Amino acid sequence: MPGSGFEYANLIIDISHEKVDRPFQYRIPERLRGRVDVGSCVRIPFGMGNTLRTGYVVELMKEPVCAPEKIKEIIELAEGEVSVDSVMVRLSAWMHRYYGSTMISALRTVLPVRKKVGTLKHRYVRLIGSEAEAADFFNTCVKKHQVARARLLEALLQNPDERIPYEIVCGKLNVTAATIKSLSDKGIIAIDTEDYYRNPIGDVKKQEKNITLSVEQKAISDRVISDYDNGIRDTYLIHGITGSGKTEVYIDMIERMVARGKQAIVLIPEIALTYQTLMRFYRHFGERVSVMNSTLSAGEKYDQARRAREGDIDIIIGPRSALFTPFPDPGLIIIDEEHESSYKSETMPKYHARETAIELAKLVPGGASVVLGSATPSLEAYYRAKTGVYKLFELDRRLTGGTLPEVEIADLREELRSGNRSIFSRALQLKMQETLDSGHQAMLFINRRGLAGFVSCRSCGYVFKCPHCDVSLSEHRGGMLVCHYCGYTQPISKICPECGSKYVTAFRAGTQQIEKEVNKFFPKARVLRMDADTTRAKGSYEKILSAFASEEADVLVGTQMIVKGHDFPNVTLVGILAADMSLYAADYRAGERTFQLLTQAAGRAGRGKYPGSVVIQSYQPDNYSIQCAARQDYKDFYEEEISYRKLLKYPPAAHMLAIQIMAENEEYGRQIASRIRAEIEIRKIKDMIIIGPASASIGKINDVYRMVIYLKNEDMDGLINARECACDLLDYLEKNGKLRGIQVQFDFDPMQGF
Ligand code: ADP
Ligand code: ZN
Ligand code: ZN
Repeated sequence: MPGSGFEYANLIIDISHEKVDRPFQYRIPERLRGRVDVGSCVRIPFGMGNTLRTGYVVELMKEPVCAPEKIKEIIELAEGEVSVDSVMVRLSAWMHRYYGSTMISALRTVLPVRKKVGTLKHRYVRLIGSEAEAADFFNTCVKKHQVARARLLEALLQNPDERIPYEIVCGKLNVTAATIKSLSDKGIIAIDTEDYYRNPIGDVKKQEKNITLSVEQKAISDRVISDYDNGIRDTYLIHGITGSGKTEVYIDMIERMVARGKQAIVLIPEIALTYQTLMRFYRHFGERVSVMNSTLSAGEKYDQARRAREGDIDIIIGPRSALFTPFPDPGLIIIDEEHESSYKSETMPKYHARETAIELAKLVPGGASVVLGSATPSLEAYYRAKTGVYKLFELDRRLTGGTLPEVEIADLREELRSGNRSIFSRALQLKMQETLDSGHQAMLFINRRGLAGFVSCRSCGYVFKCPHCDVSLSEHRGGMLVCHYCGYTQPISKICPECGSKYVTAFRAGTQQIEKEVNKFFPKARVLRMDADTTRAKGSYEKILSAFASEEADVLVGTQMIVKGHDFPNVTLVGILAADMSLYAADYRAGERTFQLLTQAAGRAGRGKYPGSVVIQSYQPDNYSIQCAARQDYKDFYEEEISYRKLLKYPPAAHMLAIQIMAENEEYGRQIASRIRAEIEIRKIKDMIIIGPASASIGKINDVYRMVIYLKNEDMDGLINARECACDLLDYLEKNGKLRGIQVQFDFDPMQGF
């Protein structure tokens, strides 16, 4: 029986009307005991005047927190349908338990908090006058190199009867307010202002559906919908290369769900929320769709939530937080690019949108179906699909036409041997020259992720690895190599143990250095650079991309930021300068990340009418991540990778919990870490593997020392149990004032190494 034995309940009062401040405790009267549970919606007297209010139970207690005579009593259970808020409260209770965050931070994550907002107005930009006039003006702008004006006019001319929201013009199209005003002053465009709740796109004509799904596409949509109609709620994975028609399948399924009176949530990584993608949904669903993104203010988010709650919209598109849109009756949750690491929250609760979506789908009344899509599925998703936990669909054909690029792997060891010490292999130099000569564009990609200073032999490619964990060792000051999982250390040797050469170094090459080299080799090429430095200012990311798209440069040099989102039809060459970099990041997902990045990067070439080519430079050309990415062969990659994960019990073969200990005093932090380990050890949890404590990859930040313990267990409950042991110990230490200067965080199935 739920909640039996508990006499008290902590409540959050009617969240949509109050700030989520703190829970209030109430007594559960005899007649309601065993019926009140976490997530229950109850009626209570509140405040001085004992006004009747609604509250949500967030925690059940056996003991009162203050004098029992001061505690008021719950009046009744608010009967009837399970309300949206109580679903969300239950979801937050699950997050609280599963991810080990506080209840309040879980609640703050799932429930929109009301903030007072003034009346919001929406502005739109549209063409006035004839299309021909606008086209004339567009041509003039192009001639005069007024690129921002041209960009806006081009977008407007694509669909001359539609308006574009002002935010999209300033944001995605990166046109300044001054430019918009100048065009409006010239009488080319008009700026309309309307109340907020109106359709954000304006009079988008819902276009007749002119796409007939292919047999393969239709089979997927049919299966998901017929399962749904037959009362089956499941998780589905669509594995299909970019351009294989996944988005059309989503749209078809959503349409059919909406026809059944249900709502749909579509998660897309923030970076892929491009103007083109959004317009595709808007054209289809018109004013029944809305967008959530990180630039919305708290007030705007609250308004979106209100629209969803009141049935004003059927579909929401947004990044991971859009999952918490309070639809009354959602039937479908779609997660596109399911493998993206941005689906995992980096702040408490460190939830993963995939796991949380699946839990939410179980909690909503009637249940919902979950559809995941990716060209390079996460090992987790594919493993579950292969083992029958999810249903798997494959889309193998590219519908956009265009051929897959021709991929060449350049062996950097070979280059060194033949005396080429530059960062461009001869193959890449040749291809660059050809590309520039033919007036096409090139993208040079440096994989900097996880650049923790792995050390390798530049002559034979040997990489120093931990003998216990099979992840690469990182260079630390003082000439030591350290494993960030188990703490193993060894001195850096000056000579390669494999081939005896003395070219043992930590590989370091930055975007700036590449830019310089391009200028040196190809003095006439116009180069743009995109990295953390050049994108610091707001809007600069989009500015660089749109400058490159309008061919203001021949070469774009950048980090992984450049591989996503935009389509550049004139790009025929992609050079990946050091494919190895992410391969030797000091964590077990390195191979997977490398494969994903290389596959995505390679897929950037030859999107338009011209065939593309790709050069992957590597010191380890035989590595399976690189080989499989070059062949765009996901299945081979998966087989190799999963056998490694199984062997070493890394996710998804097991679950993993990272316990991070941050301490002002290093020695004391180490003591606490060891006590946590000891506390978990004595519980003798079945099949628990405990590694560490070891120093984190960044061992000290702002004079705070960081240590990590990793736990591995095939059973998630074993890890939850271990976390509870650790928390009991921490509570005890806290009560005795022994936790000063110490902070501990938990991360289940971490996406990044610590
Ligand atoms: P993905 O989401 O897998 O990258 P999309 O759904 O965006 O693929 O499809 C790629 C392109 O192919 C789009 O331009 C889309 O309109 C088109 N397309 C998709 N399905 C069909 C179809 N059945 N018939 C014709 N064109 C299609
Ligand atoms: Zn060597
Ligand atoms: Zn190790």
